[in-house]
Amino acid sequence: MSQSQLHATALALYPEDYREAAALLKQAVPLMVRHNIAPNPVHYALWYTYSKGLEPELNRHLDRVVKDFDYFPPDSASKLFRDYIIRDELEDARAGQLQAINLVDGMERHVTQSVNGSLNFQTSLGHCLQMLAEPVDERLPTLLSELQHSTQVMHDQQERFLSQLHSAQNEIKSLRDKLERAQLAATLDGLTQVLNRNTFSRLLEQALSTDAQGVALVMLDIDHFKQFNDQYGHPLGDRVLEHVGQVLRTALPPQAVAARYGGEEFCVILRDCADLSAARDFAEVLRQKIQALRIKARGTNEVLDTVTASFGVAMAEARDTVESLVVRADDALYQAKRSGRNRVV
Ligand code: GH3
Ligand code: MG
Ligand code: MG
Repeated sequence: MSQSQLHATALALYPEDYREAAALLKQAVPLMVRHNIAPNPVHYALWYTYSKGLEPELNRHLDRVVKDFDYFPPDSASKLFRDYIIRDELEDARAGQLQAINLVDGMERHVTQSVNGSLNFQTSLGHCLQMLAEPVDERLPTLLSELQHSTQVMHDQQERFLSQLHSAQNEIKSLRDKLERAQLAATLDGLTQVLNRNTFSRLLEQALSTDAQGVALVMLDIDHFKQFNDQYGHPLGDRVLEHVGQVLRTALPPQAVAARYGGEEFCVILRDCADLSAARDFAEVLRQKIQALRIKARGTNEVLDTVTASFGVAMAEARDTVESLVVRADDALYQAKRSGRNRVV
């Protein structure tokens, strides 16, 4: 990967400014000291990301690792680093890039050979023509046979090039598919298949900077989810998150996008929304759909307790930034929690 690609990837993963980054590091370092974790770059990256709280799954792993071990096993560190910081999709995309470069290099070699063959042919042809203009020369048969030979060489090279071109076309198509899949995977939350938080922030920023008119933000947080996890265990908690993700994905009006904001919090960006009451109606539909979910435990088929969520809705205003709009929607969500949960404010 080139320096600039590396830089762009790092910026996409860690877009915070100096002040925010310093604050995160201030949280990360005492945690590392407390758990006796060697201050190396891999560990810094893990605990920095932990403090950022963007990957709840990573946080749970780290919580478990420090609880189960007195020290931080190096194998765990490098696996977590690969899974949550470098990420396999990016690795795939990088491998794809390399393959594409090799492919183009190979084709360039064949084209060069083919062009050289044509040039030789042209030169031999030129000599022949020159001779034909003069009285017949005894060197003509030799030249004609040379010409025939270079025609054959040129033909062979062009055939090779053609077959290389055909296989390259197929390879390029499969590479393009692979890259598209990797690009898509890098924008999604793995568990719920809605957008991840980075993509959410980017899209909301775009929406606000083009035209804030008609943009609304719906934020929701599952009620008493900790209790749910405690009662049924994390794997069933994960199933709930998957189902909520599916409710969001299938209920979206045109132009709207849904994302996992973190842990058990989701959000929807609405576009072309008439007013706050239209956004509230949409959130109300989501609330009812979540409440209507009937999730069964695998094996026993026991229907689990009803899941509900609280919602905060805010309409964007002309000067809103991502932060100011999120704060308003989050305040509304907080009020929904305080006034009894399972409601839209
Ligand atoms: P409230 O109604 O006030 O929102 O209560 P709550 O219990 O939902 O909120 P709290 O913030 O106390 O707990 C959130 C819980 O969500 C704690 C955490 O274990 C759980 N959680 C976060 N991410 C995941 C995840 O990916 N899978 C599972 N199963 N649980 C998660
Ligand atoms: Mg929460
Ligand atoms: Mg909650």
